[in-house]
Amino acid sequence: MAGAPATLPPGSVIGILGGGQLGRMIAAAAARLGYRCHVYCPEEDAPAAEVAAFATCADYRDEAALAGFANSVDVVTLEFENVPAATVERLAETVPVRPDARALAIAQDRVEEKCFLNAVGVSTARFAAVASAADLRRAMDDIGAPAILKTARLGYDGKGQREVRPGADPEAAWRQLGAGRAILEERVDFQCEVSVVIARAHDGATAAFDTVENEHENGILRTSRVPARIAPAVDEEARSVAARIAEALDYVGVLAVELFVTRDGALLANEIAPRVHNSGHWTLDACAASQFEQAVRAACALPLADPARHSDAVMTNILDAELGDWPEITAEPGACLHLYGKADARPGRKMGHVTRLTPRGSETA
Ligand code: AMP
Repeated sequence: MAGAPATLPPGSVIGILGGGQLGRMIAAAAARLGYRCHVYCPEEDAPAAEVAAFATCADYRDEAALAGFANSVDVVTLEFENVPAATVERLAETVPVRPDARALAIAQDRVEEKCFLNAVGVSTARFAAVASAADLRRAMDDIGAPAILKTARLGYDGKGQREVRPGADPEAAWRQLGAGRAILEERVDFQCEVSVVIARAHDGATAAFDTVENEHENGILRTSRVPARIAPAVDEEARSVAARIAEALDYVGVLAVELFVTRDGALLANEIAPRVHNSGHWTLDACAASQFEQAVRAACALPLADPARHSDAVMTNILDAELGDWPEITAEPGACLHLYGKADARPGRKMGHVTRLTPRGSETA
């Protein structure tokens, strides 16, 4: 790195690529520290744009709009991981982008991601890259069944993946997936899923929030609970894996690492997210400074905040029609409600979340 970047003073403008709830919560955290945000995304009525000082609604490949955006901000961060890496490279010619295009490119491709993880000594489920039905047949012989076939790119919340059962026809499975490139992964018989949300600053300092235990339903995160119900040694290892990944990427920003805890207590990394993460939402209410504030601090070259937790927490996502439960939640003691301002509730759409706090130590009692 060429010298330490200058700290951006309050009043500076943070560009955010992506306009969803993550950007909305980054913008709120930025406002608390006196920064202004400029949200760039292709969608109109973006949840983040509603709370940002400036917004550009344009395609991620719109050169003129990108140039205008780059000239109007002091730093760029991202809240959406499928922003084309080329867009980030283009912006980085004019303005610092934190995290950088390399981390983004790795996280965007499940094959590259798993190869990278293995190369830096992080274990994953066994996997094979697949680009044809013939590849899939070989991969099925190699990995066995049941296994999970996932598109290499553009999958999220369980989309773009299907289970491959014993005896499945590779031709049909490949056709149904309808992808050019994919990955076949061994299906992990896990005890639980955990994640570590870690911030890394420009000077290499890191601050990890406590390890979170996650439950998914239909591939979508349902609840995150902290502390995770795992052995201290597993917790220690999860944090060290996250720190190793952040270090290997020379990462600046907030990074989430999702891991499976196997029945015998081993950790297998599932994926990394080069951004704030749904499993870190509890930090808004259970920590003095949230993951969103850490993202702002890292982007603006401020020191990272203490990630200590003052409460135990269970975060539950509010999906589609559950939005109607808001009156009861607002009346519930200890429940912290966050709504994203989204108007139409499509199936599985994240409309908000609620974090229920209890005194620290009560969850493990
Ligand atoms: P992903 O899109 O890779 O995050 O997958 C979404 C969810 O599907 C994960 O959080 C797991 O609950 C489940 N899943 C994905 N990959 C595997 C795997 N290889 N073995 C077992 N469960 C998986």
